[in-house]
Amino acid sequence: MSKTPLTLTTDVLELPHIGQRHATAFRSMGLRCVSDLIIHLPHRYEREEAEIPIGSLPELIGPDGSSDTQVSSRGEVAKVKRGFGRKPRIEIQLEDETGRLEIVFFNQPWLQKRIHPGQTLRVAGKVRLHGSTLQMANPRWEHDDPDAPAPAGEARLLPVYSASEQVSSMMIARAVDAILDDAVDLLHDHLSDAYRRERALPRLDEAYRQLHRPTDEDSVKSARRRLAFDELLQLQLGVMMKRHHRIQTLRAPAMELSEELQRRMSARIPFTLTENQEQVVAEIAGDLQQGVPMNRLLQGDVGAGKTVVGLQAMLMAVAAGHQATLLAPTELLAEQHSMSIERMLEGSRVRLALLTGSMPARERAQCLERLAAGDIDIIIGTHALLSKGVEFHNLAVAIIDEQHRFGVHQRAVLRRGRADTDDVPHQLVMTATPIPRTLSLTIFGDLDVSTIHGRLPGRSPVSTRHVTAEESGAVYVELAERIDRGEQGFVVVPVIDESESMLKDIGTHMADLQSGPLSGRRIESMHGRMDREHREAIMERFRNREIDVLVATTVIEVGIDVPNATMIVIEQADRFGLAQLHQLRGRVGRGSIAGECVLIADPVTPDGEARLEAIVSTNDGFRIAELDMEIRGPGELVGSRQSGLPPFAVASLPRDFELLRMARRDAEAWIESDPTLEAPEHALIRRRLMKRHGEALGLVDVG
Ligand code: ADP
Ligand code: MG
Repeated sequence: MSKTPLTLTTDVLELPHIGQRHATAFRSMGLRCVSDLIIHLPHRYEREEAEIPIGSLPELIGPDGSSDTQVSSRGEVAKVKRGFGRKPRIEIQLEDETGRLEIVFFNQPWLQKRIHPGQTLRVAGKVRLHGSTLQMANPRWEHDDPDAPAPAGEARLLPVYSASEQVSSMMIARAVDAILDDAVDLLHDHLSDAYRRERALPRLDEAYRQLHRPTDEDSVKSARRRLAFDELLQLQLGVMMKRHHRIQTLRAPAMELSEELQRRMSARIPFTLTENQEQVVAEIAGDLQQGVPMNRLLQGDVGAGKTVVGLQAMLMAVAAGHQATLLAPTELLAEQHSMSIERMLEGSRVRLALLTGSMPARERAQCLERLAAGDIDIIIGTHALLSKGVEFHNLAVAIIDEQHRFGVHQRAVLRRGRADTDDVPHQLVMTATPIPRTLSLTIFGDLDVSTIHGRLPGRSPVSTRHVTAEESGAVYVELAERIDRGEQGFVVVPVIDESESMLKDIGTHMADLQSGPLSGRRIESMHGRMDREHREAIMERFRNREIDVLVATTVIEVGIDVPNATMIVIEQADRFGLAQLHQLRGRVGRGSIAGECVLIADPVTPDGEARLEAIVSTNDGFRIAELDMEIRGPGELVGSRQSGLPPFAVASLPRDFELLRMARRDAEAWIESDPTLEAPEHALIRRRLMKRHGEALGLVDVG
């Protein structure tokens, strides 16, 4: 051990077994100091049977010719030789008084320099009989040195750590083992004894000790439960703190929805709102009259009619003399919104503007000037609206479409929206990718949720089927038939990074269709590298039925609303995400003719197959979101990466949903009684959650 006492920040270089070279390798894995090692938890465990003599190993071999579990033995190295074969191999003869074991290491030629005849090795792995030879391939091994853990008298669980090429799980295990006892003694628990007892949670030091050096499976479970709960509780406390701050401290303009205004607004819409839409408008109006900044999520399937609801909120702001903004994830979508809203507002006094990144500098400067002066009432745009230099005069309502593409950070930018007061704008987030219930409690826990269910009147369902590439000929014949009946369609091709060569692929595919099944029909391509005018011109021609088929990348994923388009063919569909496929098929079935979506794919991965099966099985966006989470697994928390929040290391949803509920309840109660966690007994957990989530949740100005 080092001479100076160990602290949680002691550098790895000062730890036993770690020299300069290894320290560098540890650091490159993010393992810089003692606390890094402690929180680098094993991702699984291997059961290792108690050490037995080599001669007894064959008894552990099952009917399939190898041992079920990891077995361990030790012996003296009798021979080391280089084997020959396709992979470089080192063969070692290990002997004790009872027998002989052949060890084979593949792809590790350097071991020849480290293992020599006469040394004693301890090995653990699966044994099998190769003819009459007892063999163990790529075992864990160690020299029988005085620092090695004492031979286990009984079976044990061995931690397996995620490792790198230079740092093996074994090396990490050793480093952790050497410091574990001293290090966990330094951990202060932020939960009181009484609190933990009530919820049957082990102490923090115990939990870490058990995870690194488990005694049995039950204690591993209980330790994980403690750490998972911690993660969930800290996030919930942060979210609740923020919510409390918003409701108690922040102010937003209060606005009334008068009957007069309601009448004027509905006169602008070329259809009647559904009951469900009316109800959501009422929910929003209820928020807007509070004087507390609204933070609401509006979820509803693609084409469910969210935008028009959002427009009502914007018009409420304008009627009260404030500004409103609508933020879209892509230029194409911003343009679409702008056009359809312009149509609805024709002849009114509402001053509408569009701001996108591709706008010429002069035009942009003028637009920003008018915005800051209050000469624009509603501005629609992309990320460009979040950039420096964009100043609102008196923004009161900010609507963010397709929230999963914008992070919490970006949304925070919209919180500063007014030159005249300290008020902040109301926010409405619209998404067609509903957040599974399990997640809505976490990252989005500060959002109130409104939902539009089902289809709009006059809409037809979209039927979806999957065909193999071989069967795709018939699909295009069908598309041609639809065209000949006066309908239109989309063909979507996967493009990873809209590079030159990819775009050439689109061209090739288009040419193939043109000279083949779609000959004589009017085909155009569209992708993200086209400039706006070009794209708009194509969309205009498509809307006017001057184009029959659009061959496109996922630029058409959101927003395109052409009721006469009835069929969408998606090439290599297994390469798209589930939410994306659902969005894409939402481009059809927007009129009176039933939509059809055909997925062409020969999936090569189980995930790809699962996605296709899921998308064919249901049209329900909420179900799709749940399935998406199941397929992608807990590692890919929807929105967690984009939101800037660190993903959970231990907790996993939906598995830990019950823990999440418990954390939620507790967090609500805590924040109710101590809104900024300033009580001394909350100081430690407050510090930890601020460090973890403070920035991402924007808690800096909360407490
Ligand atoms: P979303 O934003 O939810 O994907 P939109 O708001 O773009 O859906 O609505 C899709 C289309 O349906 C738009 O053309 C819109 O004008 C139309 N629409 C919305 N509400 C209704 C309604 N109640 N009746 C008929 N058409 C509607
Ligand atoms: Mg939409």
